[in-house]
Amino acid sequence: MIELKKNIIKFAQHLNTTNLSPLRSGNLSIRVRLKNKTDGFLITPSGVRYELLSPKNIIFISLKGEYDKKGLEPSSEWKFHQDIYLNKKDCNAIVHAHSVNAAALSTHRINIPAFHYMVAVAGGENIRYADYETFGTRKLSINIIKALKNRDACLIANHGQVSCGSSLSEAFELAEELENICKQYLLARQIGKPKILSPNQMKKVLLKFKNYKK
Ligand code: 13P
Ligand code: ZN
Repeated sequence: MIELKKNIIKFAQHLNTTNLSPLRSGNLSIRVRLKNKTDGFLITPSGVRYELLSPKNIIFISLKGEYDKKGLEPSSEWKFHQDIYLNKKDCNAIVHAHSVNAAALSTHRINIPAFHYMVAVAGGENIRYADYETFGTRKLSINIIKALKNRDACLIANHGQVSCGSSLSEAFELAEELENICKQYLLARQIGKPKILSPNQMKKVLLKFKNYKK
């Protein structure tokens, strides 16, 4: 468990140093499968500066949503982390970030179309946005689960983004990739409407992607 906690801290600090999520924004978690015990996940605490984190600050929450109430409060977004692990069995890690370009684009409440073939990195022919709800609520979680159907990442309206992976490094890389895609899309939109790849063109990309990674 200590190694997993150290890994969370390493990537939480990367949120700041890579500028993916400035200051106290964002949060991340890793799924934990325990023999003979309830499975759950380890998550960053709420509102703590990442450079101050130590392993004892990382909180275990069971998939039923139970955690030790004596310590620090877990991330205010633990409910959507819980629901993603319950709904996506191959997701082992989650990164939530307020990356600048994703947050800016999220305020337009549009799905990112296939303006670039790399949109397929999230698993489909577009990248959806989850409709707005107050942060930390089950309602927001429901919207995120909807936007993540057959996808590994989505925008969160007027908020930021969330990315999933089979490991924390994979989820983090996807979050960085999505931020890059948002930056490109915002730039492309500045001189008009970019041409969008057809469903058939994206089908070919998605097929190639199946063998591209790993
Ligand atoms: P927490 O510090 O509670 O994780 O909140 C950060 C955040 O990004 C809320 O959406
Ligand atoms: Zn947030």
